[in-house]
Amino acid sequence: RAKLDGRGSVQGFHQHFHDQLLRRHRLVDRLARAIERHELRLHYQPQVALVDGRLAHLEALLRWEPDDAEPVAPGEFIPLAEHAGLIDRLGDWVMNEACRQQAEWRAAGVDGIRVDINLSGSQVLGGDTLRRLEACVSRHGLCPADIGIELTENVLIAADERVLAGLRHLRRRGVSIAIDDFGTGYSSLSYLKHLPVSALKIDRTFVRDATRSAEDRAILEAAVFIGQRLGLEVVAEGVETAEQLSLLREMRCELAQGYFLHRPRPAEALLDLMRDAVVDAP
Ligand code: C2E
Ligand code: MG
Ligand code: MG
Ligand code: MG
Repeated sequence: RAKLDGRGSVQGFHQHFHDQLLRRHRLVDRLARAIERHELRLHYQPQVALVDGRLAHLEALLRWEPDDAEPVAPGEFIPLAEHAGLIDRLGDWVMNEACRQQAEWRAAGVDGIRVDINLSGSQVLGGDTLRRLEACVSRHGLCPADIGIELTENVLIAADERVLAGLRHLRRRGVSIAIDDFGTGYSSLSYLKHLPVSALKIDRTFVRDATRSAEDRAILEAAVFIGQRLGLEVVAEGVETAEQLSLLREMRCELAQGYFLHRPRPAEALLDLMRDAVVDAP
């Protein structure tokens, strides 16, 4: 009898589903007002060169901290924004804020540290996000090399000729283009040579598993090797332990990013680190 009312019951299932929908509806309503309510901000996570510990680039990561509720993770609200047609507004805010911040850092005498922003599929595949990015960069008085973009392989594979032309154009101008979460998409390796990319960011699951078995280690090493041989910048994502870091050093991986090195943090908390440029890579 108890089963009929429990979580596993049909009724429980419908209730759960209904709650989920309700939560999403409420989130979308609040997300639509998040910009004007100043609830969004960017955190930045260093990408560190493994030979000398130099802070090479930063990745901008969007944060939503509603006034009246717990922070919501981008893994939850970005897909919602895509479905609800809000992603262009959010994306433009991110673009503009990252460029504004980069210009402020440059004015403070810190330069040569690139800021990379994430672009999702619906931003890149429809509309004119890439063109707006170029305009945004020059509006803030930046060089194209001051800003980079990160796209997943699935987005790159879905790109039609028009989008590829836009990417090639940006790449020629000097904007860095990275394949994010490399190795997790559904693609063959041959696509790599056709795409206008300059960096590979190896997904953190490969970094995580590499210290577990010889096979997993071989997969990580192969990914690093492919990137290098194609002349791409290679970044290992999600480095959480000293052991993972030294493994990556042995593999001569160029750059690493992860909690073990630095957590994402607000711009104010980064200036000193950026001034030093060489950060302590343990
Ligand atoms: P991503 O682009 O792959 O970003 C890396 C994610 O890994 C970030 O999560 C970062 O905080 C997290 N991370 C960094 N180091 C470590 C580590 O050592 N261990 C673990 N477990 N995680 C680590 P976050 O900030 O929650 O972002 C999640 C995803 O949301 C991003 O994945 C990206 O796909 C998307 N995202 C974030 N900001 C934006 C944005 O401005 N626009 C778009 N379109 N997507 C964004
Ligand atoms: Mg990313
Ligand atoms: Mg990633
Ligand atoms: Mg990811």
